Amino acid sequence: MSLFACNLGLNVVNFPETCANNTDTDSKTNSKLLLISFDGFRWDYLDLVKKAGRNTPNFDYLIKRGVKSKRMRTTFTTSTLPNHYSMATGMYQESHGIVGKEMFDPLFNESFSKADIESTTKSFWWNNGTDDDGAEPIWITNQKSKGKDEAKGLTKTKSKIKSENWSGVLFWVGSNMNIRGHRPHYFMNYDHLFPFKLRIDLTLIWFLGKVTPINLGMMYFPEPDEFGHAVGPESPLMIDKIIELDELVGYLIQQLKEKDLFDQINIIITSDHGLAQLKGSINIDDYVNSSLFSVYGGQTVWNILPNEGEEDNVYDALKKVPNLAVYRKRDIPEEFHYRYNRRILPILVVAPEGYTLCTVGRNCSDKGGAHGYNNSLESMHAIFIAHGPSFRRGYEADTFDIVDIYPLICKILNITPAPNNGSLANVRQLLRKPPKPLMQLAAQHVTASNLSEYTPVLTIKITKLFIIVNLVQAFLLVVSCGIAVALIDMP
Ligand SMILES: [Zn+2]
Repeated sequence: MSLFACNLGLNVVNFPETCANNTDTDSKTNSKLLLISFDGFRWDYLDLVKKAGRNTPNFDYLIKRGVKSKRMRTTFTTSTLPNHYSMATGMYQESHGIVGKEMFDPLFNESFSKADIESTTKSFWWNNGTDDDGAEPIWITNQKSKGKDEAKGLTKTKSKIKSENWSGVLFWVGSNMNIRGHRPHYFMNYDHLFPFKLRIDLTLIWFLGKVTPINLGMMYFPEPDEFGHAVGPESPLMIDKIIELDELVGYLIQQLKEKDLFDQINIIITSDHGLAQLKGSINIDDYVNSSLFSVYGGQTVWNILPNEGEEDNVYDALKKVPNLAVYRKRDIPEEFHYRYNRRILPILVVAPEGYTLCTVGRNCSDKGGAHGYNNSLESMHAIFIAHGPSFRRGYEADTFDIVDIYPLICKILNITPAPNNGSLANVRQLLRKPPKPLMQLAAQHVTASNLSEYTPVLTIKITKLFIIVNLVQAFLLVVSCGIAVALIDMP
């Protein structure tokens, strides 16, 4: 619709400003984006602070001038590694293959454990065992992008300068791994104790680099998850932790402003999951002999690999555990998007909200907080706030999915997404609308809903008006030329 209006305008009325701007503000070639994850930042933590009579002025500052979603659904299992990889790739866990913090891959006959860093460094974990159609994290998509200028066929030199996209990724799950032959331009091996403010300083240095400045930055903070596990989300102590993170956001805003970046960089602050208050634990050994199977998972969700010939026995025994969700692989609910991957093992068990699972050699806690549960639970949903030139101001969006972040970033950075499970349609509402062409601005009475109906008619009317004006001008020119000639001819 707007293209039609714009072309008509160009042909007859010269409105170069209007047409130059008649693209989404989010598709500028020089867009920058900073994605920040605060691990385990539940969607309602800011509300809990307000209920306690305290404030989060820096989060509020961004929300007031940007967008916020009511909640953000994370993928099942609601765990840290899988969800950070879902955010980076736009894929459900069954698609990208990071299906837990502990995994067994029957094809490679190897195990993966977050606690054993060495086991996580093999590339096949991160590309689902294939270089052809495995997951592609956004930092790779960004760097692979040829950029809009090259696509437009500009000169090689110019496109080379403008189309080089660089990613700087600090401590994101998978960011220090060789995935499909690539790594981010800037990254560091995970350092849990790396000071939070220094993470901000370093990422902003990458944005301001003279030779290869990044256009995509990603930063990970392990809080408030770590503290939440210890005290639980309902503890009054959580209020102080959230306020501490608010002060960190204040530091980020201050640094961005000092460096003249605040209005240039799109910022997304989000998280990988929420947190539930623990009420108790379930000792699985009370129901089944745990020497009959191997467990891969955390405290709340287990992938179970029964010993040869024991699957039926183990399944039948687990089904007797009260309130425990037990599925054979083929029966895992479709809405989990957690079935079609060889690393999802023959039996899946999911603890009821607020409970942990224990067995011999696997400690579990019944105090504090936990996550990993069914992703339809509100307690597992995460925060989403965004601010910057591509985002609307003061807008609250409905709940959407963590996998939608990948296509959203691709849209903002104007890069071509790899295959993913997300939907731009779900998050497009967050983005600023393209500026209205002058012709549309003239029609104040036209509402958004009937714009497509009216604009072509309006354009034709204005076109006619300008033809008439041009004809009148031409007539006056001829008349004035005639008068001038007559005057010259006068003796
Ligand atoms: Zn955690």
